[in-house]
Amino acid sequence: MTNLTKDFFYSLSQNKLLNESAKKWGFKFGADKFVAGTDLNSVTRTIKKLNRYGISGTVDNLGEFVSDREEAMRTTNNIIRLLNRINEENLDCHVSVKLTQLGLDIDEQFCIDNMRKIMEAASKFGIFVNIDMEDYSRYEQTLRILQTLREEFENVGTVMQAYLYRAEEDLEQLKDVRIRLVKGAYKESEAVAYQSKAEIDRNYLKLAKKRLLGDAFTSIATHDHNIINELKAFIKENNISHDKFEFQMLYGFRTELQYNLAAEGYRFCTYIPFGTDWFGYYMRRLAERPQNINLIVKDVFYD
Ligand code: FAD
Repeated sequence: MTNLTKDFFYSLSQNKLLNESAKKWGFKFGADKFVAGTDLNSVTRTIKKLNRYGISGTVDNLGEFVSDREEAMRTTNNIIRLLNRINEENLDCHVSVKLTQLGLDIDEQFCIDNMRKIMEAASKFGIFVNIDMEDYSRYEQTLRILQTLREEFENVGTVMQAYLYRAEEDLEQLKDVRIRLVKGAYKESEAVAYQSKAEIDRNYLKLAKKRLLGDAFTSIATHDHNIINELKAFIKENNISHDKFEFQMLYGFRTELQYNLAAEGYRFCTYIPFGTDWFGYYMRRLAERPQNINLIVKDVFYD
């Protein structure tokens, strides 16, 4: 895929008008393959199905870049409702949240207050909360909020993006924190991030190995079979306990590989997005993977 096509989908992912309009459209362009329904009942069915195969979930009540206080508060309540559901139905999963869905762009303290409400509910039920990492303009705020929350709560962690030059240094500060390691989904400048796949992959492997030799839990989040195979060999060679890490992939991606890794005895966790706010999430997936664009063509011409 050309950089132009990538740029096109990245810019769509951040277009406020389209993100808003898409909430009313219902799923379009094949998004339903990657989003587990619009409501709590649909996502509950998906989690239960995965749990039957020994796969846990990290559930994302979709939403981002919220600029309205009421909406951020509604989202906070929806996430608390999700936590209640996980507890009532004893589902094997935790939740993933984005700080911009909780009002980060409105006011940092307001966002912390919303996060605190979520953390209180999650702590009561013993459920882990992951703060997804968004684009670099929110990176330092995200790490700062994580540190604030960690003064009160243990069951919170975040994501590190291997495309960032500073990832290794920052992971040193996060040695005791549960971390999901990803390559990075946003378009960042070369002032802060590696641009080539080879450099990002090299850094990913370096960081993953370092984490696996450390003490805290790591989620190895990638669909890249080359990376997964190299890490499986590393885990075996170094006799690393399977309780110290899990593999993670997105719902709808490489499903067979997800089931295979779980069947091989690795801890496996699927990232399960749900809700009406699917547009930005789906456009980023299209920017990453050209093959998915075929789904749009099918949806537009054959449905
Ligand atoms: P890629 O570099 O996209 O793919 C590597 C190779 O793997 C490809 O060349 C191909 O051979 C193979 N491959 C990949 N996908 C497929 C497929 N569907 N079918 C067949 N082969 C395939 N990013 C953030 O910035 N913040 C986050 O909080 C965040 N959370 C994430 C959570 C999870 C669970 C996952 C899996 C990703 C998350 N991401 C996040 C996205 C991530 O940063 C990458 O953009 C995304 O995962 C694509 O990179 P990749 O590691 O999967 O490998």
